[in-house]
Amino acid sequence: MKPVFVTQPYLPPLDDFIPYLKQIWKSKILTNGGPFHQQLEEALCDYLGVKHISLFTNGTLALVTALQTLRITGEVITTPYSFVATAHSLLWNGIKPVFVDIDSTTLNLDPSKIEAAITPQTTAILPVHCYGHSCDIKTIEAIADNYNLKVIYDAAHAFGVKDEGGSILRHGDLSILSFHATKVFNTFEGGAIISPDAKTKQRIDHLKNFGFVDEVTVVAPGINGKMSEINAALGLLQLEHINSAIEKRKEVDRIYRDALSDTRGITLLYEKTEAFSNYSYFPILVEDDFPLTRDELYQHLHDHNIFARRYFYPLISDFPMYRGLPSATSSNLATAKEIASKVICLPIYPQLDSLSLSNIMDIIKRLDIDKYTGILASKMEKLNG
Ligand SMILES: *Cc1c(COP(=O)(O)O)cnc(C)c1O
Repeated sequence: MKPVFVTQPYLPPLDDFIPYLKQIWKSKILTNGGPFHQQLEEALCDYLGVKHISLFTNGTLALVTALQTLRITGEVITTPYSFVATAHSLLWNGIKPVFVDIDSTTLNLDPSKIEAAITPQTTAILPVHCYGHSCDIKTIEAIADNYNLKVIYDAAHAFGVKDEGGSILRHGDLSILSFHATKVFNTFEGGAIISPDAKTKQRIDHLKNFGFVDEVTVVAPGINGKMSEINAALGLLQLEHINSAIEKRKEVDRIYRDALSDTRGITLLYEKTEAFSNYSYFPILVEDDFPLTRDELYQHLHDHNIFARRYFYPLISDFPMYRGLPSATSSNLATAKEIASKVICLPIYPQLDSLSLSNIMDIIKRLDIDKYTGILASKMEKLNG
């Protein structure tokens, strides 16, 4: 079997990219908000249904800059069940992360546990739309309003996801996206901040360009977070294929669900409840009554050249720079701990072929049969012996 990874980046036909490169070579505009940068911002506003977007070199710098934009300080409430960049963006701003446990069905921040973690130092909440599933936005908004907190959504997984009212990126004070190679929509590396008004976007655009307002005016200690013309041009081309790419992900999701929903010891994450989902990940939980432990299944898949991933294990709160925090204890994060010990994300991407797919499902389902035929065989042996 050829190796199958948890994801494979989507790439448009190479020939279609050449005209974009020719245009860049001709204009000699490589970065600093050139024409492709401009076009991609407009095209993304249109596709996503949002008013203001600022492109970035990557999602992490978008996160770091989003916190700077709103001048967040002190303590920020966030989830331990995410990619490490979520909390790293806080440390880069000298902010103390306060971890709150997740909900066992959505795997997002448990809103019922947020209030207890608020202190006089709390200034914001940084939730993640994990696997592209919307957080409990209403409850989070009510808490934020009540305590006068800002909300920044790490929407790195939530490209294109919609609820009844439109894009889920319109919620909160800001949302950030990642266009990393492994994400649903990629520009090789890239990211963005979605802001609610032109004034906020302007501040973000200053901050991502060293704080420059014009040739001689610097208004803030900004960073270099600008997306280059090559990445922006690629994004324009990727956008032409995004709907069919998500459609193919949806098919893979359907096939997994049909095949695995009745497998003993395997729990699937709830069906999407959003108006439009992006099928960015396919997490399964390996329960105690599955024939192998989670790590044994992970290894077993590896042995068959299937490189599923344990997203998110370890928890962010278990890494050395976080584990000393008062909120990083196992007792505070019991649900996150449990989920992190059970989860495996199976391969899902548009080009995943049906042979690889059926192979993955067979391997998982066969284990169950093997175990019980094994027990049966040893019982027969005893009887005969
Ligand atoms: C990928 C990811 C990021 C970081 O994005 P980059 O573009 O890789 O910097 C941040 N948060 C989450 C939840 C992610 O999955």
